[in-house]
This record gives sequence, C-alpha cells and structure tokens, in this order.
Amino acid sequence: MSEARRVLLVEDERAIRDAIEAYLEREGFWVTPVGDGEAALDAAEKHAFDLVVLDLMLPKLSGEDVARHLRDSSDVPIIMLTAKGAEEERVAGLEMGADDYLVKPFSPRELVARVRALMRRAHSDAQPQRDRMTFGELDIDLAGHRVYLSGEEVELTASEFKLLVTLARYPGRVYSRMELVEKVLGYDFEGYERAIDSHVKNLRAKLRDDPRDPRFIRTVFGSGYRFDASEAA
Ligand code: CA
Repeated sequence: MSEARRVLLVEDERAIRDAIEAYLEREGFWVTPVGDGEAALDAAEKHAFDLVVLDLMLPKLSGEDVARHLRDSSDVPIIMLTAKGAEEERVAGLEMGADDYLVKPFSPRELVARVRALMRRAHSDAQPQRDRMTFGELDIDLAGHRVYLSGEEVELTASEFKLLVTLARYPGRVYSRMELVEKVLGYDFEGYERAIDSHVKNLRAKLRDDPRDPRFIRTVFGSGYRFDASEAA
C-alpha cells in the first residue's frame, strides 16, 4: 500500500470544506482542513503537502496572498477555488501560481478528478494510489477485497473479484481470455477460457451492467475483454 498523499484544504465555508474533506478522504488522501489564510501558511510551514486546494476569497489573508507565499518556498501544486463567473479572479489566481482552478459551485467528483490529474502531473514519478480504485459509482477497495456500487456492497466470489481488479488496473488494455484464465484462475488449459466468459457474465449482472452495452467490462470481439474507465469521475 502506497503512502497517502497529503492535501492542504483551505476554505472558510464550513459546509464546502467538510464536503471536500469527506470526498478526498474517501479517495484515500490525507486531508488537513483549515479555514483561513494564516492557518494555511502555518500548516504549510509544519508539513510538506503534495497538493493545496485553495479558496480565493478567505478571511485574514486572501487566497492570492497564500498562493504567493507558498510559491516563495515551494512548487506544490495548487488548485484555486473561485466564485462563479469571477473571470478576473481566475486569471489573478493563475498568475499567482495556481496550477488549475474550479469555479463554484462545482461537484466534489469534479474536484476529485482534478486533484488526481494534477497529482499525476506533478508527481508522475510516484506510484498512483493503489489501495482503492473508483470509477464513477463503482468503488473497489483493494485492501479490504470489497466492491461497492453506488455505495452498496456487491458480493463477489474470489474469482470475480480478481477478474474485476485485473481488468480495472489497466483500463483500456485488452486481455485475451487465455491471459485472464492465467491471471484469475491460475491454471492454463484451453477449456477454461469459457469459464472466463461465465465469470464476466456474472460480474456484469452483479454490477448491474447491460451485457449489450456494458459500462465497465467491454467485450473486444475476437480478442477478449477490457475495462472501460470512461465512467470515472
Ligand atoms: Ca471563501
């Protein structure tokens, strides 16, 4: 299990701060929430963060000032949160050294996607989070061997779980049935390729996927199967 990435979350509106914190923690990030600009700089002095989510309009010190101070000593990626339609604020935020911005109101999903993308860009040397994988409403807990669909646990057999994880680890990669037999069932015999088809069929049913137009596990005719991550937030 890789070490959790640390996110400094600076937002004075309690409800928004709590919501973002909950979402990021669910995604496996380690979040330090603070409510004003001074607290943000204090926290940044004490800990090294992998990313900062920074509201622009803050008490004490503005987000702009916080970004400027942070930039004096580090190149930590910053996502700026700006008010709706505040084009000038946005431009100012980017000039102050923010790497990305989101206009309020935004969906927590959108924020999570941006955080992930920016983390990848900024820390491309590091391994991505691998103890949990989330694709839209599908949530795979690798450590706990559990799968959730829209928050409800889906009961999978050991083979189904292994099959799902094998495919989901490399979305878009096509696996032949033979490869899946070797990876999932662990034996190497032509007759067992059909076993993969029936596991896929069961898995799709449990994930409430339409076999004619599956969201997650796609059939690649003549080749095998691949996982489709376009459901990802
Ligand atoms: Ca604010």
